Amino acid sequence: MSQDKAATIAVRAGINTDQHHSAVVPPIHLSSTYRLEGYNQKGDYDYSRSGNPTRSSLGKAIADLEGGSTGIVTSTGMAAIHLICQLLSKDDLLVIPHDCYGGSYRLFTHLQKRGLFKLAVVDQTNLDDVAEVMKQKPRLTLIETPSNPLLRIVDITKICELAKQAGSLTAVDNTFLTPLLQKPLALGADIVVHSTTKFVNGHSDVVAGAVVTKDTELGEELAWWANCIGITGSPFDSFLTLRGLKTLPVRLKQHQANAQAIVEQLANHPAIDAIYYPGLGDHPGHQLAAKQQSGFGSMLSLELKGGVDAVRCLFDNLELFTLAQSLGGVESLISHPSTMTHAGMDLEAQLTAGIKPGLVRLSVGIEDADDLISDLTSALDKCLAFKE
Ligand code: PLP
Repeated sequence: MSQDKAATIAVRAGINTDQHHSAVVPPIHLSSTYRLEGYNQKGDYDYSRSGNPTRSSLGKAIADLEGGSTGIVTSTGMAAIHLICQLLSKDDLLVIPHDCYGGSYRLFTHLQKRGLFKLAVVDQTNLDDVAEVMKQKPRLTLIETPSNPLLRIVDITKICELAKQAGSLTAVDNTFLTPLLQKPLALGADIVVHSTTKFVNGHSDVVAGAVVTKDTELGEELAWWANCIGITGSPFDSFLTLRGLKTLPVRLKQHQANAQAIVEQLANHPAIDAIYYPGLGDHPGHQLAAKQQSGFGSMLSLELKGGVDAVRCLFDNLELFTLAQSLGGVESLISHPSTMTHAGMDLEAQLTAGIKPGLVRLSVGIEDADDLISDLTSALDKCLAFKE
């Protein structure tokens, strides 16, 4: 019987692993330390920073879902991103997309300023530019697709091929889609990073991350660094994330159905200049997304005609969508990338990435679609006065 379908892996993660009391759901192991049987006789675990059974169950589940060999659970998504930077020495080049998550951009640019590695910022939708930067033989290439917040889609297979030819490792930030909707390792990547704070946990009550590697040796190297720096995830967060993961397949279905219904309804709204959602036929990345993803996700952005005044008006009039950072929870959120998620990018970098003051980002939740649509349309209707 096949037991490798994503929904089965997600739901069965950790089930029936309790050796002592046959608990169906694995218990949380909060102990910080573990008894040795005698002189130099270590068991599977000795100290919770280095290893913890609850964290291991989660790491294994995410690695299995991604089709990787090793899953390292970190304290935050940024810790996961920082972890892969440990692969770089001062003369190594890191290639990043020009429109990656603002916090990642801030980390990379500040580490580069301190001389920890070299950095090239590239528009990865342009494969000629990617090929050009590969001439510099980078050590690591980061891909983020769909990108945050403009939902640009880049070709994971082609970028990984170009990187491989140049001897570069590749890492994909798979936060927006999760392994249920995109499998970067199968498309040629070496590493996947996640902010599990988002869809994987899905209930906006944990901040955490994960790194998955295809190769065991690379996984061991990164796990060694995670322990060394002390960025491994807490048992309690791992327990909650494992619980959240079990409903990811059903949550995603509803998230996506709601997002699709919203974009269809808002398509001709006079307050909106552009809708960025890869599920729309006229989205520049639609064909590629249909090919390399198994769903379009539930993140989308709207460019409002009335700029920042319209944004303020929209926020003042929404009742269901909560104005807040983050994404991927069951509840719908709205944010203003320029002053919130991407405030870590200076204005010039924001404009280069296409992040304008009138852009709002929606994380579509799993509430009733009609309620979400009516909340958005009635709030947008009230903001028509700001239309340019
Ligand atoms: N990667 C992406 C795509 C994100 O959107 C975020 C946070 O919003 C992160 C990484 C960082 O994750 P965390 O906030 O869990 O540290």
